[in-house]
Amino acid sequence: MQLFGNTANNGETYHDSTTEDTLLPGGMLYLKLDDPLIKTKKDIAIEEIESEIAKKLRMKGVILSDARLLKAMDSNMIKESSVLDLSIKKDGSYTSKVPVASKEQFDNLMKHMKKILKKIGDEILSGNIKNEPIKKKNQTPCEYCDYKLICRFDKDLGNQFRVINELKNEEVLKKISE
Ligand code: SF4
Repeated sequence: MQLFGNTANNGETYHDSTTEDTLLPGGMLYLKLDDPLIKTKKDIAIEEIESEIAKKLRMKGVILSDARLLKAMDSNMIKESSVLDLSIKKDGSYTSKVPVASKEQFDNLMKHMKKILKKIGDEILSGNIKNEPIKKKNQTPCEYCDYKLICRFDKDLGNQFRVINELKNEEVLKKISE
């Protein structure tokens, strides 16, 4: 998602009218293509079902901390957004279950991703094409990979996973700004 943010329009997608012609990223969001089922113990109105479906399809990702932008993303929002998992309070502040990042944190994310891309490119050019997939708890991408037969990853042949420890969003944002 961050990679796409970097390549799409050079990561500049949101116009901040308060700072002349500055373009800022408004967020990095993704929508799961799904057709969710709503379970209820009693009959409910179609409108209620539609509202529950919309809630399940709310986008995930990271958003820029700017209440004006959040309102602009969902112009029909009165209190709770049907686009993102957040609600606006009477005083204009908001509570959000979607991670929120400042402009500086967005910049840090972009810089960090560019650094990683450069490192990957340099390593490939220097001949490093090791198959060293990540492992998070007991999950690995190999479970869903179509290239098992080609890459021949095999722990018995000495291949290793790169074990990664999951960090909280705030921890990631703090780490990349150090
Ligand atoms: S099966 Fe091979 S190519 Fe696929 S994720 Fe695992 S290591 Fe990578």
